[in-house]
Amino acid sequence: MSQLGNLEAGSRHDLHVGVSPDAPDEDAFADANGVFGYVHSYETSSRYDGPGLRVVLFVSGCLLRCSYCHNPDTWHLKDGTYVSAQQVIDRLGDFAPALRSLDGGLTISGGEPMVQLGFTRRILAAAKQMGLHTAIETSGYLGDRADDRYLSCLDLVLLDIKSSNPETYRNVTGRELAPTLRFAERLAAIGKPVWVRFTLVPGFTDDPTNVDGIARFVAPMKNVEWVEVQPFHQLGAFKWKAMKLEYKHANTSAPAPELTNRVIDQFKAAGCRAR
Ligand code: SF4
Repeated sequence: MSQLGNLEAGSRHDLHVGVSPDAPDEDAFADANGVFGYVHSYETSSRYDGPGLRVVLFVSGCLLRCSYCHNPDTWHLKDGTYVSAQQVIDRLGDFAPALRSLDGGLTISGGEPMVQLGFTRRILAAAKQMGLHTAIETSGYLGDRADDRYLSCLDLVLLDIKSSNPETYRNVTGRELAPTLRFAERLAAIGKPVWVRFTLVPGFTDDPTNVDGIARFVAPMKNVEWVEVQPFHQLGAFKWKAMKLEYKHANTSAPAPELTNRVIDQFKAAGCRAR
């Protein structure tokens, strides 16, 4: 393991590569205790990743390989800084009074929070004890790993549903769609609040049938408070280049406002609350 690093404030757009070179592979990573974990960065003033003012903690490790990912430097645990959960919790405590007074809380994103299940559960449970609202942003791919105790630490799940079509999903993420849908159904069954997020990538995920499939799947779920359409952007493109990864989207443009509006309207037409 690398030396315990200081958890410095940083942007989600900072490039982090090889900070903890001795970290295990995320595929086989078992994190029962979660006393230590791998963190990419954190932001202290998001108003976008859940209600109110949020601290957003970006953890390392993800099993998907989304072709448009703007944080490919979170894919591997070795690219995160090895820190103790207590160190993160202590830092969060500094912000807790402000977060409480602004009706906000903690969102854990990544990467994929459920790669480091024990680590993120410890931090979420501590946030709850501080009286903070808690959320994770997840693809849901590892949802089967999360037991009821884990879900009880969450007030909200930001669930990325990248496609309704298994082939498109495999094409853009390299993995299967079914675990995400299964996780969504489980959250619906227990009434856990969810904001569904859909990344709109022109030429890849914008097909009306694809959008309609997600809309029809989500519309009957009373626990889904919002569907958020997230337009593709190029902010992470420099990371793909710096990491010498093949980037499919060098020539993909951000969606035109008309396209974004068409997709939002499709969700609304199906009965979803969308923005
Ligand atoms: S799930 Fe998120 S972090 Fe993982 S590859 Fe996809 S966009 Fe990147």
